[in-house]
Amino acid sequence: MSPVKRPRTAAERHARLEQILSLLDQRYPNATCALHHRNAWELLVATILSAQCTDERVNKVTPGLFRKYPTIEDFASVKQAELARDIHSTGFFNNKAKSIIGAAQTLLRDFGGEIPRDMDQLLKLPGAARKTANVVLGAAFGIPSGIVVDTHVARIAARLDLTKQTNPVKIENDLMKILPRSRWIAFSHQVIHFGREICTARKPKCGQCPLEPHCYSRDKVFV
Ligand code: SF4
Repeated sequence: MSPVKRPRTAAERHARLEQILSLLDQRYPNATCALHHRNAWELLVATILSAQCTDERVNKVTPGLFRKYPTIEDFASVKQAELARDIHSTGFFNNKAKSIIGAAQTLLRDFGGEIPRDMDQLLKLPGAARKTANVVLGAAFGIPSGIVVDTHVARIAARLDLTKQTNPVKIENDLMKILPRSRWIAFSHQVIHFGREICTARKPKCGQCPLEPHCYSRDKVFV
């Protein structure tokens, strides 16, 4: 297989990025958030639960959780130990229970029980870092405040040489500089699907990868 040439000019880098985005659109035209939710509060809770846990596992836990605690008030008043038991299977249950209860109490005390549609305000909620806030703003409200950088986005941005950074906030900054704002929400959803299906952490399926002609990663695997 002939080596993939690296772009050398700004115009070549731009053209390569356009091709990557176009191929992601073709492969994942309707990619959306995989966490099941009916409103922004449920998405916030699901996103907190998804730390170090699969979306599949979270989706098994949340229906029963929202049946037991239908309102933000219910979450604000539950004992941490009880909520921790309810979310035990998602891991890190004590910290997650503390964050969810703290977020519910803060929402009721400072935001009239409404999820704020603003990054700085969302970051005031316990358990909500930039990634969580970006998920909620993007998937619940359609607001492109930033780009969700999870493990898939971080790995694939590096393999595609879209960043040299390893810190998620710095990766996000790099991606925000090169991607048009209109792409910020869809890009993360598409790349997360791509990371699960093809560009996996171990043994990426490079032989099936539509981006292969544009990828000069050293991690390529052809079987
Ligand atoms: S060619 Fe391989 S390493 Fe590169 S993006 Fe595709 S799956 Fe990932």
